[in-house]
Amino acid sequence: MGFLSLPPVTPTLLRALTRNSGLMRSELQLATGASGATIARVTMELSDAGLLSVSTGVANGKGRPAETISLAEDGLCTIGVSIRTEQCVASLITFQGECIASEYPDVNEETPYVQAIGRIGNAVLRLAAKAADSFRALGCVSIIFFGSCSYEHGEITTPSTFQAWHHKPIAHDLARYTALPCAVMNYSFALVATLNWFSEQDFDDFFIALDDYSIGGMCSIHGEPYLPYGVKPSSFSHTNSRRIGKELCRCGGYDCLSVTSSVRAIRAEAGRQGLISPGRTDFANLIRDLDGHDDPRARLLLDSAGAAVARAALNVCRGIGFRICIFGGLLFDCSAAAREAAQKEFYAPGHSCATRFLSDVFHGKDIDNLTAAALCCHHLSKTRQAYLLDKQQDYVEILTRQGASQG
Ligand SMILES: [Zn+2]
Repeated sequence: MGFLSLPPVTPTLLRALTRNSGLMRSELQLATGASGATIARVTMELSDAGLLSVSTGVANGKGRPAETISLAEDGLCTIGVSIRTEQCVASLITFQGECIASEYPDVNEETPYVQAIGRIGNAVLRLAAKAADSFRALGCVSIIFFGSCSYEHGEITTPSTFQAWHHKPIAHDLARYTALPCAVMNYSFALVATLNWFSEQDFDDFFIALDDYSIGGMCSIHGEPYLPYGVKPSSFSHTNSRRIGKELCRCGGYDCLSVTSSVRAIRAEAGRQGLISPGRTDFANLIRDLDGHDDPRARLLLDSAGAAVARAALNVCRGIGFRICIFGGLLFDCSAAAREAAQKEFYAPGHSCATRFLSDVFHGKDIDNLTAAALCCHHLSKTRQAYLLDKQQDYVEILTRQGASQG
């Protein structure tokens, strides 16, 4: 009830149409490896359901004019929920990662879990009502979590800064609250999916190093996230761990990347040096402010953080033999100085690994929105069920009435 079952070839077909709009059936056949008959049947099925649009092009020479297939603009959407330590944003997003509307539920790592589900759930329901006005179907509610979590189990795992949320089945609880399909994924995992789904260039195998509020690292092999030796994305943040040193890390070691070079560490040091007012939580602007600061100490902070993360990443790449290392997270997204410093580390001789920056790969696009769309694509390819929004207005009315009678 309420769901549209998608034929098996749909995920690869959607992927091809996400990367290139307006493909002919023969091109779709090539991109998906499906037979002509299958493509004809599936494109008809999906355009009848309103997810694809078929347009007739200009005839060139003899024969019928070619029909081109695109994703329908009012077809699929997702609701992205990005949960960072300091802030939470819920957005209605197109299947291609463009934001239509956003809400800012009052949620951070200090918020009690049950309250967080309620606040996020209410924002999601308001966005779902908006979605029902403009879209046919919702892929899922994509929760992008800046900490450890399991897509398969839909729950938050350890370690994570959200200590009171450990082992909470956040995807299930939000699904129960909103009656919408929900999925959760760690930001690093979602970025791998994003690069594999949305980047125009195929990167094949790569390492991705993230410097955000905390630090993460993840490999992608054959288009799938890969963690060498079963380590977690956060293991990369404890590179350089020493038995004695200056800064104690919560892993018990000293001077790990997370305590010397994360955005959180940069904020603390910049606050101590009086470069910024302490306790700021607008991390993106904080990094931009430091990047444009007159005081050379600001540049030094960004420089040494970028270089330290790059050195650790280069070690991983050398060890595994990656040819591409991609840098992302607020530090690299917002600071040219950090990008330059990382680039410089890769000038070291004796390897053939090149650097790329997420801010260049997805130039001008909001990366958080893209990660939500990528999780939606991933979830659709696993479940092959899209949630039809035509009944959503009725649910909203029922919920509002219930809320009114209970309040
Ligand atoms: Zn550590």
